[in-house]
Amino acid sequence: MQISFHGAASEVTGSCHLVETSAGRVLLDCGMIQGGKERHERNREPFGFDATTLDAVVLSHAHIDHCGRLPVLRKAGYKGPIYATPATIELVRILLSDSGHIQEEDARWTIKRLRKKGKDASHVKPLYTRAEALQVLDQFVAVDFDRWRALDGLGRLRFIMAGHILGAAIVELELEDGDECRHVTFSGDLGVEGARLLARPDRVECPEVLLIESTYGDRERDDTEDRTELLYEIVRDTVERGGKVVIPSFAVGRTQEMLARLNDLVESGRLSGVPVFVDSPMAVEATEVFTKFPDAYAKEARRLYCSGDAPMEFPGLRLVTRVEDSKAINASRVPSVIISASGMCTAGRIKHHLKHEIGNPRSTVLFVGYQARGSLGRVIQNGTSPVRIHGDTFDVRARIEQIPGFSAHADRSALLDWYDGLGGNPQHTFVVHGDPDAAGALAKTLEERGTNAVVPELGSSFEL
Ligand SMILES: [Zn+2]
Repeated sequence: MQISFHGAASEVTGSCHLVETSAGRVLLDCGMIQGGKERHERNREPFGFDATTLDAVVLSHAHIDHCGRLPVLRKAGYKGPIYATPATIELVRILLSDSGHIQEEDARWTIKRLRKKGKDASHVKPLYTRAEALQVLDQFVAVDFDRWRALDGLGRLRFIMAGHILGAAIVELELEDGDECRHVTFSGDLGVEGARLLARPDRVECPEVLLIESTYGDRERDDTEDRTELLYEIVRDTVERGGKVVIPSFAVGRTQEMLARLNDLVESGRLSGVPVFVDSPMAVEATEVFTKFPDAYAKEARRLYCSGDAPMEFPGLRLVTRVEDSKAINASRVPSVIISASGMCTAGRIKHHLKHEIGNPRSTVLFVGYQARGSLGRVIQNGTSPVRIHGDTFDVRARIEQIPGFSAHADRSALLDWYDGLGGNPQHTFVVHGDPDAAGALAKTLEERGTNAVVPELGSSFEL
């Protein structure tokens, strides 16, 4: 058996690992490399393997850094099955379509800029178009959680709940290899213990070979603060001042987690009468997908659901898709909560809400997610004033708040706890999906546990 690493090796994004046995070749994930222009250009480089010779692709979850290069793989000649959970497939439809749109916009913008400078722009093409992104959906094959599924002539596959986002799976492979059966498990991205909406990662049996993520391999989350309580205090104070709470939030995952927490605050009577707007067509679509898969919910959310009370539905909640309705939110002076995308304020309707509220000392901009360097979100979070939005300058008078720790990734203790739940040590452990420090720290600890732990380099290959 051979395993080679073609992304998320000594870095976080671009998840892509190839498992080969005498029976065939299985690709785990085919993610987009993210984090700036230079990295993005790497998505155009040829794959380190021949896409036409793959027998199967298995997708752990719908995040773009795990599925975003699938349209490129199709263009490189892969026309075979892509196995994923039903919820993942629904979210991939939303996220890949958006990704195709972004690629087209980026190309259009680059062409415009080059032409302005009088340069040739005929070579500029989007990485893929929205139409090309949607074609990939024809190749998807749905596989439910916790059931073995035969892979023609290769062996079999099982998805186990990873809790990271809706549909996210730990992938178990049993592959034929000559007379042997090789057991390979890929953690995908592992979720957190204390999420309000989604369940924690399930346990799996100890495999022969483990691929484990390490995003937070060297960090612990601060769990001393009750995040729902912080959210309550910020909303209450802002409403008392007569302002609005503007929350930039990723459309898939974070928005639904915020809704589940607001649901608790409203239904317990602590925040009644405050309108809550979700103003992002993508977030609204994703929320509808989340309501279809209650089996993925954490205990309390599932209990609510079973008692007939949807965990993301409460009086005062309005899901906004039409542009006119979005504009109407700004026209109203009623104190409210506005959740909108993009999560780092780099595009989308959130910019319009910021333009209206950032100069208002009664209002609050509340960050609940990571803000990358260079993003408008990071600029505001750093306390810069004035800021530029859509070419205009705005003095920042609104309160700037943040609630850290909403990450959907298991921290170091949770990763080790999940590993210990294997009940033994794999013969080989590959620590992937982490910056070198994070991956190295986790690998060192796992090595001390008794496994042969390696942080693979990009493009490296191991004969096992
Ligand atoms: Zn992820």
